[in-house]
Amino acid sequence: MHKGKVVIKTDKYTIIDCEICGFKHLDPIPTKEDMEKFYKREYFDLVKKGGRAPEIRRLMNGEEEARSELKWLESTLYNDIHVILTKYLPKKAKELCDIGCGTGNFLKYMSKKGWKCIGIEPSQEGSKICTNLGLTIYPFTLKEFIDTYPNMKNTFDAVSLLDVLEHVSSPFDFLNDVKKLLKPHTGIICIRVPNDFNKLQIYIQKKLRKTPWWVAVPEHINYFNITTLQKLLASLGMDIVYKTTDFPMEFFLLMGYDYVKDSKIGSLCHNKRVKFELFLPNVIRRNLYKVLATISIGRSCLVFAKVKS
Ligand SMILES: [Zn+2]
Repeated sequence: MHKGKVVIKTDKYTIIDCEICGFKHLDPIPTKEDMEKFYKREYFDLVKKGGRAPEIRRLMNGEEEARSELKWLESTLYNDIHVILTKYLPKKAKELCDIGCGTGNFLKYMSKKGWKCIGIEPSQEGSKICTNLGLTIYPFTLKEFIDTYPNMKNTFDAVSLLDVLEHVSSPFDFLNDVKKLLKPHTGIICIRVPNDFNKLQIYIQKKLRKTPWWVAVPEHINYFNITTLQKLLASLGMDIVYKTTDFPMEFFLLMGYDYVKDSKIGSLCHNKRVKFELFLPNVIRRNLYKVLATISIGRSCLVFAKVKS
């Protein structure tokens, strides 16, 4: 049973700040069958048409756009995850499972770094792309994977969920299953989710009288920030060891670049962000985003957590 203050209500959907779950989510929650159908058949088409998961779309676009997008991700997000995992895991820990691995780029990067990797990807199109890249992919949902391969429990030094948790119908049950895959005592979960309903978004939405552009139904069921994510992990007996964010895209709206209204401006803003991040030395960028996370500003949350010792 879910209950809480209604945050948004339109004729198509309602989002509540759920007292039971401790974070915002759609109410009612779409059924498992509806969502599975959506991912297996429609999701990648939606992404390709634009407006959804722009990082995946750019990675699937023409060669040059895909190449520069990948270069940026490898230099920033993937590099950061690798550095942070290496810092917080025991030496020689190099087994990774990426859940919802999409087009497999993060797995490919970690493989190049010498990690033994597998991916789980329920969408047919995504898993096909990964297999073509030579990656080991299981074309299942997490539940199907655990039921089919019970021997994979307690196997992984790290399990990553990049832009996944906002999509699942029960984050608590999902993370509880993820925990089973981790090596006892040392394993780390790496989670990236959008930082939604953040202060800048709310301020700009009211000021510019916009509809909440960060709401993506039906696929984004849950809307987290670092605090609600931390509470969810704590309820599973997990502690965050590192938390950070990334570029506050909302800054562009403050500068008058309305990327919500116009996808061309969206591409322009993205390119400016990429330029900024590639120019800035990694250490300065990491420190900057770590500080922004402490005041809940930044477009995504990136957290690393392990089971309380
Ligand atoms: Zn709830």
